[in-house]
Amino acid sequence: SAKGSGRGRFRFYSSDLLQAAEDRRVLEEDLRDALVNGQMWVAYQPVVAAQTNIVTGFEALIRWKHPERGNISPALFIPIAEDANLITDLGEWVLRKACQEAATWPGKMKVAVNVSPIQFASDTLPQLISSALADSGLPPGRLELEITESVFLQDGADTDKMFAELKKLGVRLALDDFGTGYSSLGYLKTAPFDKIKIDQSFVRDATQPESRNGAIISAIVALAEALGMETTAEGIESLDQLSLIRDLRVSHVQGYVYSQPVGNDVLLEKCEAGAWEIAPSGPAVQRSD
Ligand code: C2E
Ligand code: MG
Ligand code: MG
Ligand code: MG
Repeated sequence: SAKGSGRGRFRFYSSDLLQAAEDRRVLEEDLRDALVNGQMWVAYQPVVAAQTNIVTGFEALIRWKHPERGNISPALFIPIAEDANLITDLGEWVLRKACQEAATWPGKMKVAVNVSPIQFASDTLPQLISSALADSGLPPGRLELEITESVFLQDGADTDKMFAELKKLGVRLALDDFGTGYSSLGYLKTAPFDKIKIDQSFVRDATQPESRNGAIISAIVALAEALGMETTAEGIESLDQLSLIRDLRVSHVQGYVYSQPVGNDVLLEKCEAGAWEIAPSGPAVQRSD
């Protein structure tokens, strides 16, 4: 009976939870050594100007190649790093690596680096940024910091002061995953963002006839334009989505339709081969027609 199975089920859930907690503990231990063991690397995904197809920069995305478990998604290990006090070291490593590698790229291509709310709440972030810029020689205007709305909820963070200090350094600021958080528009009044990144959840079914996502995307674009900010649509996977997003006047696009995130060696090869030296009219992707 349902009643009779109650205890057994409780035990089942309980041991499941214990297993999950144990998995997480082991992962956290492995994460502690991952940097020194050389298991981390940075992948880069092109950011493309929607109307011209020109690659304007790349987003840096951390990758962990675990010796037994293979690639582990940052969506899984970044939250663990944040809880376990490891995000500061990881974040510094990614920032320095991304600046060093971007400094070797051709042209004036930018690099966008994700910054955890915990890093953003730290007084030492501006010093770290200026040190990473100085050590790499990357001009500040070619570094874009991606932050999420959650920075506005972080305890003890003086966001206005941090924004002012970062702008003084000359770096660019992007609001990541826009539309997925607590989305108060209040902070857009004062926060000096250069770009709003429209979350991929709005792109996903935007091409469906009954979807309201197209309307939402064009409203975000209008808002951004009125505030003098650029827009990037994330997670464009198909040519249909790409053409809709272009019609909606989103300024930049990013997604598998152009490229998966790739290592710096592949990035340099592709630039060398002209794969991303994209002519204004030429398609950046192979079309089947
Ligand atoms: P995000 O910053 O919003 O990054 C975009 C994510 O979308 C990346 O996932 C990217 O690989 C993925 N993506 C790009 N194009 C497509 C597409 O066409 N379709 C789909 N389905 N996905 C696409 P990734 O690399 O797994 O990173 C997940 C999240 O982990 C990031 O979301 C970011 O929040 C966090 N993250 C990654 N690297 C770092 C880092 O260095 N520092 C911090 N603090 N967080 C990071
Ligand atoms: Mg991002
Ligand atoms: Mg995002
Ligand atoms: Mg995200």
